[in-house]
Amino acid sequence: MSNSTNEKVRCLIIGSGPAGYTAAIYASRANLSPVLYEGIQPGGQLTTTTEVENFPGYPEGITGPELMEDLKQQALRFGADIRFGIATETDLSAAPYKVTIDGEKVIETETLIIATGATAKYLGIPDEQKYAGMGVSACATCDGFFYRKKVVAVVGGGDTACEEAVYLAGLAKQVYLIVRKSYLRASKVMQERVFNTPNIMVLFEHNTIGLFGENGVEGAHLVKRMGESDEEKVDIAIDGFFLAIGHKPNSDIFKPWIETDEVGYIKTIPGTPRTKVAGVFAAGDVADPHYRQAITAAGTGCQAAIEAERYLSEIGK
Ligand SMILES: Cc1cc2nc3c(=O)[nH]c(=O)nc-3n(C[C@H](O)[C@H](O)[C@H](O)COP(=O)(O)OP(=O)(O)OC[C@H]3O[C@@H](n4cnc5c(N)ncnc54)[C@H](O)[C@@H]3O)c2cc1C
Repeated sequence: MSNSTNEKVRCLIIGSGPAGYTAAIYASRANLSPVLYEGIQPGGQLTTTTEVENFPGYPEGITGPELMEDLKQQALRFGADIRFGIATETDLSAAPYKVTIDGEKVIETETLIIATGATAKYLGIPDEQKYAGMGVSACATCDGFFYRKKVVAVVGGGDTACEEAVYLAGLAKQVYLIVRKSYLRASKVMQERVFNTPNIMVLFEHNTIGLFGENGVEGAHLVKRMGESDEEKVDIAIDGFFLAIGHKPNSDIFKPWIETDEVGYIKTIPGTPRTKVAGVFAAGDVADPHYRQAITAAGTGCQAAIEAERYLSEIGK
């Protein structure tokens, strides 16, 4: 992987979501001449949404694509080198760390900021695409506010699904929790919270097979005890359909070198974006099973760039 023609940089950032662009702003202002690869989704997850109302600094809200373009322009203004390209392989066995781009070009870097995000899991039914941004969401914290006093469904049976259901129950009139199995996988505490919340109705042993509605989600087609002799079709009227069946952190190419949890979230030293590999940092959703917000991603991107600057000055590079 290594040869004398490899490009050598001081700071390489992988990913162009709020974490990556914020790291690029800080790293370029600290004279680290960062190179950032945008990956398959330039601008990250927020480019798939319309209104973002909770990113500080935009009192009237802003669309996701506009917010990400602003962050990109801010990074470019300070000289960040932002490029198309996907990191396809890494060798973090020793510094300088090597990252292959698009299976061809190898970059050697003294510091690496991993900001590759996480992807929400969907059920895989075509209607999720059809109603994307029109009633289908994978983030209750982001979109719950739009469903005040309305009826929503949450899909999933784990802790996240229960948390999202309880959160939404504080805003919506009625919440259905759609659970495939006959029990919840969530912790006892979370289960109790769900069962003690009067406006949550748990629909055990229900599968979602479709959504319906004219100009947005108006309901879901469910099947109770699917595949059994007593299977039954059930339609529910809802305004919003929230997926809470997990996320997949985009960490596979780093796994040989970097510790992850059982889901694939990169483990960092608590309270910092540091990994166990000196000079390699992780920021944003790829290392965050808890918050997964644009502002927290930006915050850890900032931390990662500051850490990279300090590390370089410590090693005299
Ligand atoms: C529909 C939707 C609506 C949302 N609404 C809100 C909201 O209103 N408010 C809020 O705070 N949050 C919202 N979120 C959550 C928010 O988008 C995320 O928390 C945030 O984008 C995470 O930022 P990130 O920088 O960690 O990664 P991401 O935004 O996930 O970006 C990851 C980046 O890494 C790149 N990448 C991945 N793998 C590679 C690779 N191998 N090589 C190179 N690049 C790679 C991708 O191309 C992408 O650019 C929403 C999410 C979704 C999906």
